[in-house]
Amino acid sequence: MSKMDSKTPKGPLKEKWTNHKSSINLVSPANKRLIDVIVVGTGLAGASASATLAELGYNVKSFCFQDSPRRAHSIAAQGGINAAKNYQGDGDSTYRLFYDTIKGGDYRSREENVYRLAEVSANIIDQCVAQGVPFARDYGGLLDNRSFGGVLVSRTFYAKGQTGQQLLLGAYSAMNRQIGRGKIKMYNRHEMMDLVLVDGRARGIIARNLVNGKLERHSAHAVVIASGGYGNVFFLSTNAMGSNVTAAWKIHKKGAHFANPCFTQIHPTCIPVSGDHQSKLTLMSESLRNDGRIWVPKNIEDVKAIREGKLSPAEIEEENRDYYLERRYPAFGNLVPRDVASRAAKERCDAGYGVNKTGEAVYLDFSSAIERYGKEEAHVKGLNEEDKVLIKKLGQQIIKSKYGNLFQMYEKIVDQNPYETPMMIYPAVHYTMGGVWVDYNLMTSIPGCYAIGEANFSDHGANRLGASALMQGLADGYFVLPYTIGDYLSGDIRTGKISTDTPEFVLAEEAVRVRLAKFIYNKGEHSVDYYHKKLGKIMWNKCGMSRNEKDLKEAISEIKSLRKNFYESVKVPGRVDEFNEELAKAVRVADFLELGELFAKDALERTESCGGHFREESQTLEGEALRDDDFFNFVSSWKYNGEPSEAILRKEMLYYEEIEVKTRSYK
Ligand SMILES: Cc1cc2nc3c(=O)[nH]c(=O)nc-3n(C[C@H](O)[C@H](O)[C@H](O)COP(=O)(O)OP(=O)(O)OC[C@H]3O[C@@H](n4cnc5c(N)ncnc54)[C@H](O)[C@@H]3O)c2cc1C
Repeated sequence: MSKMDSKTPKGPLKEKWTNHKSSINLVSPANKRLIDVIVVGTGLAGASASATLAELGYNVKSFCFQDSPRRAHSIAAQGGINAAKNYQGDGDSTYRLFYDTIKGGDYRSREENVYRLAEVSANIIDQCVAQGVPFARDYGGLLDNRSFGGVLVSRTFYAKGQTGQQLLLGAYSAMNRQIGRGKIKMYNRHEMMDLVLVDGRARGIIARNLVNGKLERHSAHAVVIASGGYGNVFFLSTNAMGSNVTAAWKIHKKGAHFANPCFTQIHPTCIPVSGDHQSKLTLMSESLRNDGRIWVPKNIEDVKAIREGKLSPAEIEEENRDYYLERRYPAFGNLVPRDVASRAAKERCDAGYGVNKTGEAVYLDFSSAIERYGKEEAHVKGLNEEDKVLIKKLGQQIIKSKYGNLFQMYEKIVDQNPYETPMMIYPAVHYTMGGVWVDYNLMTSIPGCYAIGEANFSDHGANRLGASALMQGLADGYFVLPYTIGDYLSGDIRTGKISTDTPEFVLAEEAVRVRLAKFIYNKGEHSVDYYHKKLGKIMWNKCGMSRNEKDLKEAISEIKSLRKNFYESVKVPGRVDEFNEELAKAVRVADFLELGELFAKDALERTESCGGHFREESQTLEGEALRDDDFFNFVSSWKYNGEPSEAILRKEMLYYEEIEVKTRSYK
């Protein structure tokens, strides 16, 4: 079995990135004008990369399937973005962010990438503040921070519960400047359907104009995939409905390895599933765990009474509540990492303590925080600290100023007032740590094809810490790719324009045309969603929060037969050469049906538990994930080989020189 070469530079860890930047090849400003770069995706990763590459002088073509870059899924990000600024003076440093990220990922990420991420994190905040991103500020006007799971410092910068939106507006305005200058050509409502290779290098894409259905050929000297994550393989997730794996999967089929597909994050604080007709789940940001306490009743009789509507949670006395995270993990309490919190919620619900009708919900309660803040506020203002009504009112005002939009969202969806009664939450699919394999330069295993943001597997190992996805996407787009891509493009300064009239483009376009036509002429009986829901059920039940050999084997065979049935019986109305949402969905679900199988295969092969990947066969006596460093200290990098089940495993071995690999305890 050949091993993957991550091309990490030599030398001491702390100097690698600085030395690498200083020694890689550059493209002169005059030559950058001769080079075209395609960027697929305009979320935080794609928008920041497009803007920066154009600012440097490259000719950029950006693609997104939404009607505006501003609508990329990144806009949904709520809680914040990490950076090792140590503004709170609470002991933070580049090293601590690096250490927390490696430990949070359960020692399954690449040390050099993570160190670089921690190093550039501080620059991101400066860049965004300069763009005018309105990060929250404290009373004195300085940038404020809050805490997220898996860390003991406050390093998360935020803009209420709308951090992604504000950051995206910053990146979008930087992009718009370049669109205005003609350095970025923006293709909204365009979906990448395939990658075009010429002499083994990425030289362009086939895109479908989603408004009129026409296929288009676009060439470039390099192609950057920034197409986001694939959590929607589970059908229900907190991701935007349109998020999909197609761009990443297409490059996989053309030779890009797919890494750790089974590493999925199931976020502990989401609004529970309400029924079979639901098509979307809603996140309640992790930032809420700064002030919300998670609990279930201690007594099963109370659980029954709550479910029957005979008891309200507020009536349960303090001593009859089980704050199970605080009990099990006193050091980190409610701010343990997401995988740990999710499994603990599942454990309580499986034991029968779930508090909603389906038994799949726990409480996230703000009453202690409301009282604490209320008393502090009364003290500051010299008001009566014994007046319970006043304290509650003052406390609620503080909570509103911190999380108002999240509370409003909860109330609209659940029809309960979370200021008065605890929120009900349950884990849901949220983020995918797996993705396209990339080397230190963010290049995939196809020369000239790069992957950034959530689309790559990069920095988070087996579990991502909260507020680290925005950090990684913007690090990739603003501060890493713009350097590393020059090293490759320096070999292309004399290539000239890439023609789209070559056989490679003609054949790639024809293959897409045939594929689309097959869907339209299929005349099956079931909708695309019918298959997507079925796939989601298999994924959730057999590859979800806990996994075992029997279920995973069943999942592989069930997904295979579902895929077969999909091609025989899917019904896609309308025509190819028109606006056709159902056709666009069919293409995406077809790819999910292949990815799902590789996902299960990957989970089956990795018989250890690590981070969000919990194999029931590998757990401690206390039910914690049990890693197997002797056999699994590698990144699984899958090479396409026909059917997903035939994919070939290549390993990238992980070496930790700077930090000691330890048991991952949060107690
Ligand atoms: C509800 C929610 C809240 C979150 N909150 C936080 C948070 O507080 N902090 C944090 O760090 N992270 C958070 N995350 C995670 C974070 O938002 C994402 O990981 C991150 O925004 C992904 O950015 P991206 O640029 O990689 O991809 P995306 O923002 O998903 O953008 C993908 C882009 O690719 C385009 N695209 C995809 N496929 C194609 C195709 N075939 N052709 C053309 N274009 C294509 C899309 O149009 C889009 O422009 C949250 C996630 C969710 C779901």
